[in-house]
Amino acid sequence: MSNIFNSDEFLFIPLGGSEEFGANLNLYSCNGELIAIDCGIAFADERFPGIDILLPDPWVLEENREKLKALIITHAHEDHIGAVPYIWERFKCPIYTTKFTSAVLHKKFYQEGVYDADIKVINLNEDFEIGVFKIKALPVSHSVPDSFSVFIQTPYGNVLHSGDWNLDPAPITGIRTDKKTFQYISSKGVIAYIGDSTNAQVNGFSGSEADVEKGLIAEFKQCKGKIVVTIFSSNIGRVISIARAAIDVGRRVALIGRSLHRMVGCAYDCGFLQDIPEFLTEDDLEYISDDNIVLIVTGSQGEHRAALARIARGEYRDISLNKGDSVIFSARAIPGNERNINTVKNNLSAAEVRIITPSDTKNIIHVSGHPCKEEIIQMLQWVNPDCVIPVHGERLQLDAHARLAQECQIKHTIVPNNGSVIRLAPGEPEIIDHIETKMLAVDLMRIIPVNHQSITARRKLQYSGAVHASIVIDSGLNILGNIKIDTVGLTCERSDDCIINDLEKHIRNIIIKFKNDTLYDEGHDEDKISETIRISVRKYVLDRLRLKPKTTIHVTCLNI
Ligand SMILES: [Zn+2]
Ligand SMILES: [Zn+2]
Repeated sequence: MSNIFNSDEFLFIPLGGSEEFGANLNLYSCNGELIAIDCGIAFADERFPGIDILLPDPWVLEENREKLKALIITHAHEDHIGAVPYIWERFKCPIYTTKFTSAVLHKKFYQEGVYDADIKVINLNEDFEIGVFKIKALPVSHSVPDSFSVFIQTPYGNVLHSGDWNLDPAPITGIRTDKKTFQYISSKGVIAYIGDSTNAQVNGFSGSEADVEKGLIAEFKQCKGKIVVTIFSSNIGRVISIARAAIDVGRRVALIGRSLHRMVGCAYDCGFLQDIPEFLTEDDLEYISDDNIVLIVTGSQGEHRAALARIARGEYRDISLNKGDSVIFSARAIPGNERNINTVKNNLSAAEVRIITPSDTKNIIHVSGHPCKEEIIQMLQWVNPDCVIPVHGERLQLDAHARLAQECQIKHTIVPNNGSVIRLAPGEPEIIDHIETKMLAVDLMRIIPVNHQSITARRKLQYSGAVHASIVIDSGLNILGNIKIDTVGLTCERSDDCIINDLEKHIRNIIIKFKNDTLYDEGHDEDKISETIRISVRKYVLDRLRLKPKTTIHVTCLNI
């Protein structure tokens, strides 16, 4: 491992986000010095029962702490920033990012009780040096303020790490992705473009936030009763679009959900919401008629504990939705979240609430913050790199991005896996090695590996159920009192209890066999008896119910 990083080479290693959506973590190595870019979370799916959030395992950063000079965070989306407060203490390097992202990060660290993080605020378009790396943060438009691409200059050549971006011609917050900036870095030579693949399968352009404002006005005009708009809480541009659309139709806006209040607080601090009227509080809603309200609500991905899911279940304090009210989904569904989103929609539909998603209406109520095909082509024409390395997506999107690059006559394309060690220079770019990458899960009390026995046990319980039996015997192997048996998730032919009665008989028979010395000649102890019963009970349930339940047997032997 240390050999790889000590070499006189310029390496790129995606450690997360290049096989899945989320958990982005990227590493660059040059002459024995390292910088990491982004450190985000991924949403857990049904493979991880009881877990909501996954993190990239930072073991490579931890083992190379003395070489690691910086973590650069390109923007404040959870898939880029979300893991930092959980795992930064394991490698503790300085963090470089822009003003808005640093405000969000400070709040996250504070929440996790971390107070010694070294966050350096950088200015867009300003050159600065981190060890051997010369860095410039190039402003790009994206669905959160203050996003940037990272231009990395080294003695071996220059790289553009795109971060998330699009070519919105009229972004509501911040600056447009500027052709001149990218043509300028092209003039300095770019050996590799490491880029956002999210929408590499989508034709055309992503569109403009300015069109969303018009679309929302048209949609609001058709609504009676309460209007709820659900968004990603970091999408400050969308908050502004909704607020402006609300003014147009004479409604007032309230924010519902903790993460939304946090993000909007940061946006106020950074001066992004200056022209927007003050938002209503939840208490104000009591005095305003339904026809004059727009609620901006967290939970566009169907998150069980977020405000929208709770409102839809009728479990949110004083806010309820009824017949005639409308819920507008002003966000895309991140792949994997469809089932949770449908649960929310079913609950809303049962309450006769109108549901409007981007595919239900001709009005534009959402635009993606990621580049579609025409935008990627445009960027590649501006930057003209020798090599394209697609990241930020599943294999399908990475491959589609690579095909686009080939159509643009880019000399080299390399589709990485998480852990691919890519030598960018000297020589032709190629994958030269592989580093093991792992994931961590945020459990209720602590962070654990995704293959931790508690998660595998939960998964097993979901499918196979469990049997637990408690037996007290004396030294003569006589059963004292009753055998206590509990089962979880087992059903059988006649009634739910019949398996318990039959298991009791089965266990009694095993102990009789012990007593008759037919199982063990040379004595017996609690562990031996427990294990024999466990194996036999498991086999009995398998033969009868075709399930392999998690089986635990406690035998207590009293010396009387
Ligand atoms: Zn993003
Ligand atoms: Zn992202």
